[in-house]
Amino acid sequence: MDYDVVVAGGSVAGLLCAREIASQGHRVLVIEEDYEIGTPEHCGGLVSISAMDDLGIIPMRGTLDNKVRSARLVSPSGREVTLDARPQQVIVLDRREFDKQVAHQATTSGAEVMVRTQLREITVDGIRTNDGNIRCKIIVDARGVSSLVNRDRTGILPSAQYEVYADWVDKDRVEVYLDQEKYPGFFAWVIPTRHDEAKVGVAGRGINAASTLEEFLGKKGRHSVIRKIFAPIWVKGPIKDFVSGNVVTVGDAAGQAKPTTAGGIYSSGMGGILAGRAVSQFLNTGKREDLARYQQEWNDKFGREFSQMLLARSLLERLDNKSIESLFGSITPQVLDEVSRDGSFDFHTTSVAKILGVKGSVKAVQAILGNELRRFLG
Ligand SMILES: Cc1cc2nc3c(=O)[nH]c(=O)nc-3n(C[C@H](O)[C@H](O)[C@H](O)COP(=O)(O)OP(=O)(O)OC[C@H]3O[C@@H](n4cnc5c(N)ncnc54)[C@H](O)[C@@H]3O)c2cc1C
Repeated sequence: MDYDVVVAGGSVAGLLCAREIASQGHRVLVIEEDYEIGTPEHCGGLVSISAMDDLGIIPMRGTLDNKVRSARLVSPSGREVTLDARPQQVIVLDRREFDKQVAHQATTSGAEVMVRTQLREITVDGIRTNDGNIRCKIIVDARGVSSLVNRDRTGILPSAQYEVYADWVDKDRVEVYLDQEKYPGFFAWVIPTRHDEAKVGVAGRGINAASTLEEFLGKKGRHSVIRKIFAPIWVKGPIKDFVSGNVVTVGDAAGQAKPTTAGGIYSSGMGGILAGRAVSQFLNTGKREDLARYQQEWNDKFGREFSQMLLARSLLERLDNKSIESLFGSITPQVLDEVSRDGSFDFHTTSVAKILGVKGSVKAVQAILGNELRRFLG
C-alpha cells in the first residue's frame, strides 16, 4: 500500500501530526509498535488548559482525571513552600484516554492507524516494518525518547513512576521534592489523579530509579502500588535538525520536551502540529523550504524559552542541598504571590528566575553560580 506519509509512533506528537496531514487530504498512516494506543502510559499527565486549546483538544470526561489547585515544593530538610496553581489552570490527563481521543481526531480527519506495527528500517522508497514494507514520500519519526537513545545518551535520565492508592494523597495538590543527593538534576513528584490516588515518580542523573522511588514511597507512608513504569526522560533540548532528507522528526524524538521538567505534552504536541502543516504544504508544492518552515516555526514559539530552560537546568544542577535550603529560606510570601499570579506553567523560566533572584538567596547561590546566574536573571 502506498501513502504520502507514514508516521512512526502513535502518541501525542505523531497523532497530532497525522491529524494535520490527513485534514489537508493527504494519505497518512500511523504505525504504533504497541498493541494499543495510549498504553503503556508513561506520563504524569500535567498540562495547562491553554496548552490544550493550542493543541485543538477539549478534554472530555474520560480524559480529565483531576484539576490542580496548588503546588508544594519541599526542600531536602523538609522545608515547604506552596504556590497557588489556580491561576495557571493546570489539569491532570489520563494519557491512556487522551491519546485515544487524539487518535480519534486523526482518524476522523482521514488518517489510518495500525497497532503492533514497528518501524524497523527506513528504505529507499519508504519503510520496513515487522509486517512488511510500506512505500511513502515522507517518514515522520515520532518514536519518542527511544529515538534519541542511540543519538546521545548524555541527555537521558532514568525515571520511575508508580500509580498508587494512598490516603496521604491530597487530591488538589501536586508535590515536588528537591534533593540533589537523592535525585541529582531532577526531583521526586506526586501528581494526584483522584481521591486517594496519585502518580508518584522520581528521576535523577545516574540513580537507580526503582529503589529511589521505593525509598521515597516508604517515607511517605502506607500505600499500594497498582502500576509501575520505567521510562527514560530527555533533558537536553531540541536536536539540531528536525528535517533530514525525507525524514521529519517530531515530539520527544526531536528533543521537544522541556529541559527543566521533561514535560512535553504541549511542546512535543505542537511539534507534531507544526510539522504536519509543513509536510502538507510540501506535498502540495514540492518546495523544500515549505518543509523547513516547521523547525523555524517551532523555534519561534519555543526556542527562546527552551534556551532559558537549558540555562536554568545547568544552574540548578550545580546547586547543592545547602544552597537549596538557603533558597527556600529566602523565598518571601511576596515572591510566592507573584509567581502564583504571573507565572506560566508552559513558559516557566520567569518564575524560576524570580525564585533564584530573591534577595538574600543571591549571595549564597551566587558563590556557586556566579556570572551565569546574572546572565539568567537578565
Ligand atoms: C515518567 C514521565 C512523566 C511525565 N509527565 C509529564 C507530564 O506530567 N506532563 C507533560 O507534559 N509531559 C510529561 N512527560 C513527557 C510526555 O510523556 C512526553 O513529552 C510526550 O508523551 C511526548 O509525546 P511523543 O508523541 O513525542 O512521544 P511518546 O509519547 O514517547 O510516544 C512515542 C510512541 O512511539 C512508539 N514507538 C516507539 N518506537 C516505535 C517504532 N519503532 N515503531 C512504531 N512505534 C514506535 C511508542 O510505543 C510510543 O507510543 C512525562 C514523561 C515521563 C517519562
